[in-house]
Amino acid sequence: DPRLQGISDAIRVVPHFPKQGIMFNDITTLLLRPGVFKDAVDMFVERYRGMGIAAVAGIEARGFIFGPAIALAIGAKFIPLRKPKKLPGEVISETYVLEYGTDCLEMHVGAIEPRERVLIVDDLVATGGTLCAAINLMERAGADVVECACLIGLPKFKPKLHCHRI
Ligand code: IMP
Repeated sequence: DPRLQGISDAIRVVPHFPKQGIMFNDITTLLLRPGVFKDAVDMFVERYRGMGIAAVAGIEARGFIFGPAIALAIGAKFIPLRKPKKLPGEVISETYVLEYGTDCLEMHVGAIEPRERVLIVDDLVATGGTLCAAINLMERAGADVVECACLIGLPKFKPKLHCHRI
């Protein structure tokens, strides 16, 4: 697809952010170009419309940029998956392992109904640990995870195919 090159070119790579040795893929430069931003959303919409997807779940924070645009275009509800202690209502939580320590994603109880079809959205997949936590969270709530959608897949990582709960 010719749009892919434009999307790739619009993402800035910032060396040594947020710490030494990390090459940070920055999608904010893509957001400054409405035509390219639209291409990215359109490519997801073309893939996911008509698949009976009831919900798009976006991972904090950059899944909150792409997820709602996709959700509106395919007629699905949007569910934020948030970092701990941000949601005011009763939550279901999933803790996952990072390189150093652990992190956690939370969702409001009742946001998704059992058997609803959900698409999970984030900006980037590296090890796949964050997406696995999101899949586990959704499946524990009884949802049917159709797919995970990201703009960027870091080539040096091969995301784990299996999710490990802790
Ligand atoms: P994973 O869990 O190892 O797959 O890492 C993916 C998570 O880390 C996602 O939520 C990303 O937003 C974040 N992340 C990791 N590296 C980058 C980066 O270079 N740019 C933006 N986000 C990143």
